[in-house]
Amino acid sequence: MQDVKEITNLVSSLSKSNYKLIEDAFVFSKEAHAGQERFSGDPYFLHLFETAKILAEIGMSPTTIAAGFLHDTLEDANTKEEELEKNFGEEILFLVKGVTKLGKLKYRGVERHNESLRKLFVAVSQDIRVIIIKLADRLHNMRTLENVPEHKRERIAKETLEIYVPIAYRLGIRKLSRQLEDISFPFVYPKEYEKTKNFLKQKRKEDFNKLDKFQKSIKKGLAKNGVTNFSLDYRIKTLYSLYNKLLKRDWSIEKIYDVSALRIVVSDVDECYRILGIIHNVWRPLPGRIKDYIAFPKPNGYQALHTTIFTGYGNVVEIQIKTKQMHQEAEYGVASHIFYKENKKHNVVPGFSWIQRLLPFKKTIGKKEIKKEINYDDIPAWIKNLVEYQALNKTQNPIEEDLKDDFFQRRIFVFTPKGDVIDLPIGSSPIDFAYAIHSEIGHHTSGAKVNEKMSSLNSQLKNGDIVEILTNKKSYPRQKWLEYAKTTVAKRHIKAALQDNKKR
Ligand code: MN
Repeated sequence: MQDVKEITNLVSSLSKSNYKLIEDAFVFSKEAHAGQERFSGDPYFLHLFETAKILAEIGMSPTTIAAGFLHDTLEDANTKEEELEKNFGEEILFLVKGVTKLGKLKYRGVERHNESLRKLFVAVSQDIRVIIIKLADRLHNMRTLENVPEHKRERIAKETLEIYVPIAYRLGIRKLSRQLEDISFPFVYPKEYEKTKNFLKQKRKEDFNKLDKFQKSIKKGLAKNGVTNFSLDYRIKTLYSLYNKLLKRDWSIEKIYDVSALRIVVSDVDECYRILGIIHNVWRPLPGRIKDYIAFPKPNGYQALHTTIFTGYGNVVEIQIKTKQMHQEAEYGVASHIFYKENKKHNVVPGFSWIQRLLPFKKTIGKKEIKKEINYDDIPAWIKNLVEYQALNKTQNPIEEDLKDDFFQRRIFVFTPKGDVIDLPIGSSPIDFAYAIHSEIGHHTSGAKVNEKMSSLNSQLKNGDIVEILTNKKSYPRQKWLEYAKTTVAKRHIKAALQDNKKR
């Protein structure tokens, strides 16, 4: 039997009211899904429990954990939106609706579309917490993938590798991306998985003894120089990232220096540089392998000093030096920053328009949309850097390049009722949508439903709209449509059809 305490115990300094929130969500979800089963025969509720638990483990707030419990109620338990809102308020309703909407997207395994699908996923979520709930949901589904009918497994695992892993990585949540990729790997590339596993096995035998000895000499070396306050451990590369490296290095494991890496965690940045100095003084570094990700963080925000040295035991080993905070951020990324202050009053941050599309919970009061504001301190350093880069209009930073592209500024993504994605320029109308699907559909458009409501043909579509085109054999393009159309494709078809009509 699942016990809610298993989850509440993971949340530090939990107030009474937040405890009750989580408990209420637990009870509500359990009742809503009563009688439903997973493929495995387990009660469906187990999935909600595990999803909420993953969210608690990565440090998400009580609101997000509660939404994790409730994330399938609208879709799978026929809970009414009003009921959710009455019991849990509009913020949780908003999160659950967001997750439900994401669940309706369909991914096609077409290479060139993956990048836009990732972006789409992010754009449609509107709130970064929605994405994180979806990632937790996916992680539990991957952990239980064995129970899913065999013919579906590969597709789901591939989708995970191509869509979910890069998103988790981009958000800096290694804790999730690592698990997702290692679970998916054997389902998508079974042969390569076996091969990589064998490679690692060989390497491990040789490495472990040396690594053990070397750990001791590092401790001694640092102590000699007066450094005693640090923690030392090592991490083995995950199979999937090892596989990717092997691909780049023609499967020669000798060329991969960070199969295992020693990690030194200290309290402050000065100490990081000091330790790097000590290490280079004692052991010879491999040229070209010294990386200062503190001064120049990776695009996803990762910070540390890396160096590879000759251990003196006939091998080389990578050493990573970082502060506790950097380590924490590398594991939890965005999740480690934003959420605890959910209920506090926030200050506005100028210049963060794009990130505000992702972070805040939007409220609509009457016709006015009120954005919840963000506290500057809650924004991860890498995002701040990014904004500064943007302000300076520099182009060296790849992530900036990514944001410069027209995605957030000029394109919207809308859906067919079946969940297929159509991307259009901002300001597009149902006419553009119809012609984007097929010219015959465009020509015979008689009306349009947007989000299940009848809508005029010149209305402006918004990101995430679900559009259904009604057709009639007798309908034909009209002069006015030229004003409604934004895309050249639609305009061209309309003009051609109008001319044909005159000739007849
Ligand atoms: Mn789910």
